[in-house]
Amino acid sequence: MPTVNTVRGPVDVGELGQTLMHEHVFVVATEHLDNYGKGAWWDEEFRVADAIAKLGAVAAKGVRTIVDPTVWGLGRYIPRVQRVAAGVPDLNIIVATGIYAFEELPHQYEHRGPGLFIDVPDPMIDDFVRDLTEGIADTGVKAAFLKCVVEHKGLTPGVERICRAVARAHVRTGAPITVHTNSFTQSGLLALDLFAKEGVNLEKVVIGHAGDSNDLDYLMRLADTGATLGMDRFGLDVYNPTEQRVATIAALCGRGYADRMVLSHDAACFMDYFGGAWDEARGTLAPNWRYDHIHDDVLAALLASGVTDDQIEQMLVFNPSRYFS
Ligand SMILES: [Zn+2]
Repeated sequence: MPTVNTVRGPVDVGELGQTLMHEHVFVVATEHLDNYGKGAWWDEEFRVADAIAKLGAVAAKGVRTIVDPTVWGLGRYIPRVQRVAAGVPDLNIIVATGIYAFEELPHQYEHRGPGLFIDVPDPMIDDFVRDLTEGIADTGVKAAFLKCVVEHKGLTPGVERICRAVARAHVRTGAPITVHTNSFTQSGLLALDLFAKEGVNLEKVVIGHAGDSNDLDYLMRLADTGATLGMDRFGLDVYNPTEQRVATIAALCGRGYADRMVLSHDAACFMDYFGGAWDEARGTLAPNWRYDHIHDDVLAALLASGVTDDQIEQMLVFNPSRYFS
């Protein structure tokens, strides 16, 4: 049985169980937190306890694994996630490497790379591979997948370099990829085209945020490459309401695509996008944007729309386990 690295160490892929394929524990940029959060709105102990409570609640509903694509650009900080993982012993947390950037490279990679001022092989690839094979910083925690972004501006030079580095780290290690895409500009097609040219096994790619689209032609075009559709923003009705997301998944299941979809919310225990007012903002803007919306509401709606128990099991259990195998 192949294993996958989680925050607490390797787990048999057959033991992952019900898996939410795109959830953040924390989205808290460390530089912002260190300068403006501490002494103001950030309370480390409260937030760790709050995360343990929120993740414990979804584990109690049957979820066994969450997949956290928080990378550089979203505030990855593994020691805090380790504390949370220790407090939720029946939930696996899988973490990622990569870079979250809509347009530009972090300056730390701008001048180092092939043909640049410091002319060396792309250091991003080595950094990603080290996170996957040796561990992240000195935490001992290994990332198990790669993350990048192709947003509405498409393959800007910075985004293209990150995506190629992610693709090459995948080719070197076999680690799967999740790419954040913009369904309204159909940027998933750009991502898959680049990955195909880089020799990526497209069956190891999740097209993140595909579920914001109800365009079946676009979604089938993505899935027909072998990629998996991330139906992963349940509760973010501002992008696509739950009823529409459910109808789209039911239509795709009816056309034989249950083996090409995964489910999630893209939720977080805390995000710093609203300063300290995360819980209030989430409650007003998107009250269903929480880890248990799928189990509380969506699964029943899928069943009522003709999706079968087997298809739900496929999307929640088998497809995630295949992705990490
Ligand atoms: Zn996300």
